Amino acid sequence: MSDQRPRLLQLKMLLRDVHPAVWRRVRLADCLSIAELNWVIQLLMGWDDDHLHRFRIHGREYGITYVGGPSFAEDAAVVPLSWFGFRPTERSLYEYDFTAGWQIEVRVERVILAAPCEGRRVPVCVAGRQAGPPDGCGGPQVYAERRRDALGWAMADDVDTVGAILRQVSDGDATVLNDPEERWEFERAVSRLKARERFLAEGFTRRGQRGIAAGVHDSAGFSMIRMAIQVVLIDEAGGGREVHEIVRIDRGQLCPEALGLSLTEAKAITGGIQQVLAGAQVIEWQEDQRACPDCGRRRSLKGHHRIVYRTPFGTLRLDSERLRACRCAAPPRRSLSPLAELLGERNSPELLYLETKFASLASYV
Ligand SMILES: [Zn+2]
Repeated sequence: MSDQRPRLLQLKMLLRDVHPAVWRRVRLADCLSIAELNWVIQLLMGWDDDHLHRFRIHGREYGITYVGGPSFAEDAAVVPLSWFGFRPTERSLYEYDFTAGWQIEVRVERVILAAPCEGRRVPVCVAGRQAGPPDGCGGPQVYAERRRDALGWAMADDVDTVGAILRQVSDGDATVLNDPEERWEFERAVSRLKARERFLAEGFTRRGQRGIAAGVHDSAGFSMIRMAIQVVLIDEAGGGREVHEIVRIDRGQLCPEALGLSLTEAKAITGGIQQVLAGAQVIEWQEDQRACPDCGRRRSLKGHHRIVYRTPFGTLRLDSERLRACRCAAPPRRSLSPLAELLGERNSPELLYLETKFASLASYV
């Protein structure tokens, strides 16, 4: 049937029902067994081999038999890939974690004669896209939901919450942590961010490949583009006063989803620019409010609190100063918060306009 020397197979593995597409292109010798191919797939997806699996090749099932799992006619450890005499464009299916229902389509792209069966060159992953979903996360549908949540507005709000409190603390005002409500909100935001972390793996990481052919990957032809977007506040003399980093963007291989900006990145950029701008505006304006409008005396600071202000570009967290009322003011007024009074309506006029506009367009059928 086939010649005795091992052949080199180039396989493309595509995870079904996941967007953006998660795929790997791998070269391996066909002297590998089915059991070894299972392990290669696990490494490439960053999975832990904690669940049952099965291959469907040429209409039959193969895999490693475990207690309580499906049993197979052949011992996966002794069936080499050469057994199947694969040809280009042939497809097989790999299923993993039957409850979650992960399916990977394995397509033979090329068959190259004379592969070295041992040594460091193969198996090697030569291309790929997107990190594999976390093992045990519940399958394509749950993964999509968790990913949407991890990249959505709620995440940006949590980052805002945590950032605003950390900024206050780093400015020397730790009183915010004494407020049980603020503290609770902070802790909840941090734990939500942690829970989202594993769904945020962007791009294709090489983490999974390390175990199979260390040393080859640097020549695998990946180039990275890294970009930082910063906002520079300019002082009166025209020089840079403060630099704020808004967002970092990393890009691996080009594919349609990775060309230009994603919606999430665009939101993070406009939201980040707005937060820096509004923060600077509020500081300047509040400084001017210190003087009593009636007698001009400087009013003393009683404390800070945070104002949440919604805009079309995200929710602003603003540090509002509470001032002691001036001696010249008529009692019973003891203190006042100029910013809170200015922003009595906690939604920007533009946001209210857009919401009204959308509401009027919505169908009531
Ligand atoms: Zn006064």
